[in-house]
Amino acid sequence: MNAPVNVPGSFGFNVATRIVFRVGATEGIGDEARSLGGRRALVVSESGVVASGIVEPILKRLDDAGLDPRLFSSFSPNPKDYECLEGLKVAQEHGADILVGVGGGSSMDVAKIIGLLQTSGGHPVEYGGIGLVNKPLPPVIAVPTTSGTGSEVTACAVCTDTKNRVKINIISPQMAPTVALLDPTLTCSVPPAVTAATGMDAFCHAFESYTCTLANPITEGLALYAIELVGRYLEPAVENGSDIEARTNMQFASTIAGIAFGNSDCLAAHCMAESLGGMVEMPHGVACAIFLPYVFEFNMEVEPAKHARAGEALGLDLNGLSAEAGAKVTLDYIRTWQRALRIPRLKDIAGVNPDDFGYAAQGALENVAASSQPRPTGHADYVRMFKAAYEAR
Ligand code: NAD
Repeated sequence: MNAPVNVPGSFGFNVATRIVFRVGATEGIGDEARSLGGRRALVVSESGVVASGIVEPILKRLDDAGLDPRLFSSFSPNPKDYECLEGLKVAQEHGADILVGVGGGSSMDVAKIIGLLQTSGGHPVEYGGIGLVNKPLPPVIAVPTTSGTGSEVTACAVCTDTKNRVKINIISPQMAPTVALLDPTLTCSVPPAVTAATGMDAFCHAFESYTCTLANPITEGLALYAIELVGRYLEPAVENGSDIEARTNMQFASTIAGIAFGNSDCLAAHCMAESLGGMVEMPHGVACAIFLPYVFEFNMEVEPAKHARAGEALGLDLNGLSAEAGAKVTLDYIRTWQRALRIPRLKDIAGVNPDDFGYAAQGALENVAASSQPRPTGHADYVRMFKAAYEAR
């Protein structure tokens, strides 16, 4: 498919995080923390990750290196603003000067936000938006244990503004982890449903980055490669969690997609996921997956060739089809793929109430990514997409 390359008037590209990839990447975490100037470490890891047995050896290695590690795990998946403030207290009591986030996006993001509050003070909500952080954070080591968010390389952290019931994005260059230690074996214990949901998050990052108005030739190349990797390896990773080839390639996809959207943007699926996700407890990847087909359908009218090109990256043979037909085949494929991956339906998620869709639409409209939609998207459009997703069979 001959899809146009987006040529913005100007763009920058930055990967502030040093990436270390290898099986056993956390073996040298003690030396790594010391070389970053750390003396006392706070390990931030949500209790489900701790229960998987991943954190204990990391604590031991940090202890062996004299970093007197303390564990903070009193926060939930989809972390809340007040939980980050509790983490700050623990960091201050401990005198932590280096943060180690071990887990999915929730754990890595809480580590980043604690670091932000340590040096900048105040409340997480004050920093929601783009470029509102002025001071550097202490060093942050990110150890991803899911393949989805890309938080290990993004200059972004997400938490819920519990007063306004919406997820906020804290986006500033300072929020990028200092180093990301990638070891795909740490993702092997992720259960199938979480693998599917987080993998769909990575797919959404790549797809939304590719089709957003801030895409540039570098992010487009990265995004297409990430789409290809998710297309090939997500199902094998869901079917057999110990398939190390699939786990490795999903980890690459997640990190590459993180670099892509971190240097461009996401789209309405993320705006909707972060809005409703602030009102109702739902895994972030599930929310993104649920809304993606509606956003795809909405945007493909203005960018059919790029939507079809994403389908080709997924491995679909669209030879001989028009851009419009190719985009439609891709949309149908994504719907079937999501059913095979057993992504839940919106109406099956506890607490979702169609009466809230007006408020959720407003939250989506105000999301940082809303302005990167290739097709202008108003309140009524968001309400319609929320309703359509809710009525889906
Ligand atoms: P998560 O961190 O909430 O983890 C999901 C579940 O998986 C948890 O129950 C956790 O205990 C479990 N888990 C994680 N690793 C495991 C392992 N190796 N073995 C067994 N269980 C494991 O999920 P997530 O999707 O990675 O992160 C979601 C959060 O990240 C949301 O708050 C979302 O908004 C945010 N997010 C951040 C960015 C960013 O750039 N900072 C990007 C996208 C999403």
